Amino acid sequence: MAQRKDYYETLGIARDASADDVRKAYRRLARKYHPDLNPGDKAAEEKFKSVSEANDILGDDKKRKMYDQVGYYSEGGFPGGGNPYAQGGPGMGFGGFDFSDFLNQQQAGSGGGRRRQANHEGFSGGGAGGFRDIFSQFFGQQGRGAPQQSGPEKGSDLEYTLTIDFWQSIKGTQARINISRQDTCTTCNGTGTGSSGPITCPECNGSGNVTQTAGAMRFTLGCPRCGGTGKLQSACPTCKGEGRLPRMDFVETRIPPGVSTGTRMRIAGKGNAGTGGAPAGDLYINIRVDEHPFFEREGDNIEIIVPITVPEAALGAKIEVPTIDGRALLKIPMGTQNGQKFRLREKGVYNARKETRGDQIVQIAVQPPKANDERTRQLLRELAELHQEDPRAEMWTKV
Ligand SMILES: [Zn+2]
Ligand SMILES: [Zn+2]
Repeated sequence: MAQRKDYYETLGIARDASADDVRKAYRRLARKYHPDLNPGDKAAEEKFKSVSEANDILGDDKKRKMYDQVGYYSEGGFPGGGNPYAQGGPGMGFGGFDFSDFLNQQQAGSGGGRRRQANHEGFSGGGAGGFRDIFSQFFGQQGRGAPQQSGPEKGSDLEYTLTIDFWQSIKGTQARINISRQDTCTTCNGTGTGSSGPITCPECNGSGNVTQTAGAMRFTLGCPRCGGTGKLQSACPTCKGEGRLPRMDFVETRIPPGVSTGTRMRIAGKGNAGTGGAPAGDLYINIRVDEHPFFEREGDNIEIIVPITVPEAALGAKIEVPTIDGRALLKIPMGTQNGQKFRLREKGVYNARKETRGDQIVQIAVQPPKANDERTRQLLRELAELHQEDPRAEMWTKV
């Protein structure tokens, strides 16, 4: 609940977009992000949900009106309970005042009998006068400050999941990322204002005030759209006053060696453009690395299971094992056990922060010989004859 949703931004349309514009924008984006067309793509799924939610509000006249006025819409109270302005809002000290009740009632018009009753009871302490004062102050602040509507606002951050293969994660790679972001409108340089001078605010018809009804009560409030001035700057024809336009953008970036799944990279200023000259948000790239058939990352180390034969394990041997640098020689000492681990120093992944390399850990898997022929079977029987020890003898002393 830290940030309020900007449904206009979600649909990439201006605040004064027509109902038809809303419908068209929604259709275009819903087609683009539809889960059926983006199977398994979480980001697309989230976008599809946001777009649907935005359309749900902006596509409905009544809901859109309320959203425009209070910057919020809620059917059954505000999500998360209380007052939407409690965090980061214009310092409201409403305490126990149940704001959602008021809005419900406002929505129900004058017909909300039971609720209105309940509300009146709730306000018996302050009386109607006190209530009006609080309320007009509330809207007054909204109107004057109106940070979400006209003030400069830093652009939001973007998230992107980049999948690379194992070798790219080891050696680093050059990534070219294709993103859709809100970019500063070049016609108005992001101000959103047109060149034709101020126009009369359509919300209050220039009076600077609007009337709100809450059940049987009527209040005159400062117009939230023009901040009570009655005038609005004419909107830039290119971006329809938004100051920004959705644009496909390519971001080229170097993925350094040693990244792994979960690595998060920030590219400053490549998020959505800000409004009114405020800086752009950032682009976050979340790295996902495809698995390799046998190399496994464990921090800066590489782990690998290497099979050896019984004679190699029993007699010792010098064997070659694969590493991320190619082949490396590993000395197997006489009497090596299954599961034993050996360390190849500095054959792991380069860590740019520490400027060191991890190790490669080799785990031994002793493979018994295939006794397909009589000669092998004979030799193994002889071996058994020669070594009559019981490898489980130790166990019997513990049970
Ligand atoms: Zn106005
Ligand atoms: Zn513009």
